[in-house]
Amino acid sequence: MDRANKLIGLEERFGSHNYLPLPVVISKGKGAYVWDVKGRRYVDMLSAYSALNQGHNHPAIVAAMKRQLERVALTSRAFHNDRLGPFLERLCGVCGMDRALPMNSGAEAVETAIKAMRLWGYTKKGVAAGRAEIIVAEGNFHGRTTTIVGFSSDPGSREGFGPATPGFKTVPYGDASALAAAIGPDTAGVLLEPIQGEAGVRIPPPGYLTAVSEACRKAKVLLCFDEIQTGLGRTGRMFCWQHEGCKPDMMTLGKALSGGLYPVSALVGSDEVLGLFTPGTHGSTFGGNPLACAVGTAALDVIEDERLVERSAELGVYFLERLGGLRHPRIKEVRGLGLLCALEFREPIAKAFCKALMARGILAKDTHGTTVRFAPPLVVTKLQLEQAFETVRDALKEF
Ligand SMILES: *Cc1c(COP(=O)(O)O)cnc(C)c1O
Repeated sequence: MDRANKLIGLEERFGSHNYLPLPVVISKGKGAYVWDVKGRRYVDMLSAYSALNQGHNHPAIVAAMKRQLERVALTSRAFHNDRLGPFLERLCGVCGMDRALPMNSGAEAVETAIKAMRLWGYTKKGVAAGRAEIIVAEGNFHGRTTTIVGFSSDPGSREGFGPATPGFKTVPYGDASALAAAIGPDTAGVLLEPIQGEAGVRIPPPGYLTAVSEACRKAKVLLCFDEIQTGLGRTGRMFCWQHEGCKPDMMTLGKALSGGLYPVSALVGSDEVLGLFTPGTHGSTFGGNPLACAVGTAALDVIEDERLVERSAELGVYFLERLGGLRHPRIKEVRGLGLLCALEFREPIAKAFCKALMARGILAKDTHGTTVRFAPPLVVTKLQLEQAFETVRDALKEF
């Protein structure tokens, strides 16, 4: 048995089977490339679900991380550390927000947003104790905690993990009047992805986010965009909501906030909401640790220094145009914004297609049977994208 199969066997034998990865074992990464244990090179067209916007092992972030590792990694929030303040200031500057609350995983940032919206509902809006409601969209993906999967509409994520946390109401995605109609006196907030990434890059109709934002303001309801996947340059703007200019009260960030080198997430938002937490009401042992803050600061620097937002916009138009020119009877639709693109087939052949791409040196991930997502690191070169496109075109001939 070769080394790759041995390693896959160890995962199978000793791991819980909560994932079904493509049969490739990666041992090295740099920029948009990864190498498997046999030394074969691939273009990474998933970038860890957009955690690697800055590319694998970006040298500036690695250097900042190493420097910080030589000093101090974890203090806990029982004490101050010399990295947290500057990171929060930098993050609020990038987001145009008043305050930030640092956590680790994306799901934790979303949990923080849920707590913040409820707290605001009780203390500012006057919702009766225990009755606060949050509106979410059908097809959402916000993480894997018990509360979050409880309002997922994906049976695979939700079933078997009940009872679901009460206090959530689901409305169709992309329909602003349905959302506005669902707002009641106990509604504290609305939690939405500006584009539903995990659902297969579902892009709402133009004007949707603006209409939702207006409905929220009118009804005195908080709006929180989950920008964990769409934020930090992925869609050709720093944040996806900027395509419509409708600034929310809060955003959740994660994934590329560390450039993939460490789990770093945050809830950022207005003083009116984030000012409500008091000592002891929320926290995390690792949240805001100096290593995370050094990595997060360097990750934001790279996005600005290398103009990754502009790159994403330009290369996204180019790649989408190439994909859009493909003519094939099995292709249903090509869509995307910036470098968050999807190719949807008429039949559930996406997984087989990803295997065909893998055999040709491209790593991409299928979702919902019919869709392949293409979301390369934003440092990807035009030449690498051109090669990826040609590989897609070649692989299609097998289908
Ligand atoms: C990935 C993701 C999350 C969850 O992040 P984790 O770090 O996996 O907990 C939440 N929301 C969105 C939109 C995501 O894409």
